[in-house]
Amino acid sequence: MPTYSVAIVGAGPAGYFAAQALQNLQTPELQFSIDMIERLPMPWGLVRSGVAPDHPRIKTVSKVFEKIATSEGFRLFANVELGSDVSIEELEEKYDAVVIATGSALGKTLGIPGEDLAGSISAANFVPWYNGHPDFANFHVSLDCETAIVIGAGNVAMDVGRMLALEPNELDVTDTADHAILGFKKSNVRKVYISARRGAENAAFTSPELRELPKLEHTNVIMSKSDINAAIERAGESPEKEVKSNLDAMLLITEQENKGHERTIEFLFQHTPVAINGIDRVESITFAVPDGEVTIPCGLVVTAIGYQAASIEGIPYEKGKVVNVEGHVRNNLYVVGWAKRGPSGVIGTNKSDASDVMDKLVSELKSPKNSGDVTELLIGKKYIDQAGWTKLNTHEVAEGEKAGKPRRKVVSHAQAREISGI
Ligand SMILES: Cc1cc2nc3c(=O)[nH]c(=O)nc-3n(C[C@H](O)[C@H](O)[C@H](O)COP(=O)(O)OP(=O)(O)OC[C@H]3O[C@@H](n4cnc5c(N)ncnc54)[C@H](O)[C@@H]3O)c2cc1C
Repeated sequence: MPTYSVAIVGAGPAGYFAAQALQNLQTPELQFSIDMIERLPMPWGLVRSGVAPDHPRIKTVSKVFEKIATSEGFRLFANVELGSDVSIEELEEKYDAVVIATGSALGKTLGIPGEDLAGSISAANFVPWYNGHPDFANFHVSLDCETAIVIGAGNVAMDVGRMLALEPNELDVTDTADHAILGFKKSNVRKVYISARRGAENAAFTSPELRELPKLEHTNVIMSKSDINAAIERAGESPEKEVKSNLDAMLLITEQENKGHERTIEFLFQHTPVAINGIDRVESITFAVPDGEVTIPCGLVVTAIGYQAASIEGIPYEKGKVVNVEGHVRNNLYVVGWAKRGPSGVIGTNKSDASDVMDKLVSELKSPKNSGDVTELLIGKKYIDQAGWTKLNTHEVAEGEKAGKPRRKVVSHAQAREISGI
C-alpha cells in the first residue's frame, strides 16, 4: 500500500482544506501522511486572527479543522517557520509533495503623502492586534481621537469600522484580546468614516454584512440616500445579482431613522484619498471627490485596501502571490489559498480551490520517495504538536468560560509555548 508524504505549510483554512481533500482522496491503494507546519504556536490562520470577534459563528469552522487534524496520518508542527527553521528546498527534498498555504498577511499601501505618520496604520496590523495575534500584542493603536477614517470598500474595512464604533462592552462576551478590549474601552473614537474610492455600486462589501449593520444596538449607521440612488441609477436596469443585493441592503440602511447613539459609522463613496495631513501625527485626510477636494479632520486612519504575501526565500513571487499555474509551482511544489490567489474569497472559497489543486497534485504523483520527514530538520528545535495545541486550546476555552466568552486568547509567544508544554 503506497503511502505518500505531503508537507502543508500554513495552518489556515487553505492548509486544512488541502489536508481534507487529500484525506478524501485516500483509497486502500493510496494513503497520505500529512505534516502541517505553522509558524505560530497556534493554528487556524485568519479564522483566529482575521475574522471579526463579533462574528463567532464563522469561527465554528475550526471544528472542521480539528476533525481533519485528529484524523489518522495527520501531524501538526506549530512554532516552526518556513524560511527560518526549515527551508523550502529541504521540504521539497524530503516530501513527495509540498503545499504552500501561507496566506497573504502584509497590508497593501496607498502610496500617498503622510501614510507613514503616527496614527496611520494598516488593517493588516490593526486586525491581528484586536484578535490577539502574538506578533501584534504590543502594536500601538491611537484611539485617543474623536474621529477615525477607514479606507477601503470591502468586508475587512467594514469589520474594522464596526470594531472601532461598537460599544466596547459588547466585546466582553467575544474572544477579542484582553488588551484590545481595554484599548476600546478607553477609546475616544465616536465617529468612524468608511471611505470608498468608487461609487456604492462598485463596493466589494457583501450583502449579509451590510444587512447586519442596521441591527447594531449602540451604533448609528449613516449612508446618504442620494449616493445610493445615484449608484442604483449608474448600475442600470439589470445589475449583477451581488450588486443588486448590495444596493438593496444599502437602501435599507439609508432608510433607517437616526437612533441618536453616541457612536456613528458613516460611509463615504467616491472619496479617493490623496494625502494624509499632519505634522507629527495624523490630523486630517484630504480626498478627491467628484466636484473637487474635501479635507476631514481625524486622528486615526486605517487602510484596508488588500493584502499581499510576504516573500519566503526560495519561493517565486509576483504581484504579492506565489507564481503558479493552477496551483502548481514547480516539480513537487504546489500552492493553495490566499498565497495562490491573492486576498480574495471567503473561507469556503479555499475549500473548492484546495480540492482542485490536490486533485492535480495526486494526478502528478510519482513513486513514494520515503526520504524522511520534517522531524529530521528540527533537531534541537521545539515544536508544538496536536497534543500541545490541544492543551493550549483547552486552556483558552476554559479561561473564556470563566469570563463568559468563547475563549480568552493567549497573546504571547512564550506563554503559548509554555502552556503547550514546550
Ligand atoms: C480581517 C479579515 C476578516 C475576514 N473575515 C472573514 C469572514 O468573516 N468570513 C469568511 O468566510 N472569510 C473571512 N476572511 C477571509 C478568510 O480569512 C480567508 O479566505 C482565509 O483565511 C485564507 O486562508 P489561507 O489559509 O490562505 O490564509 P491564512 O488564513 O492567512 O493562513 C495562513 C497561515 O500560514 C501561516 N504562515 C505564514 N507564513 C508562514 C511560514 N513562513 N511558515 C509557516 N507558517 C506560515 C500563518 O501563520 C497562517 O496561520 C477574512 C479575512 C480577513 C483578512
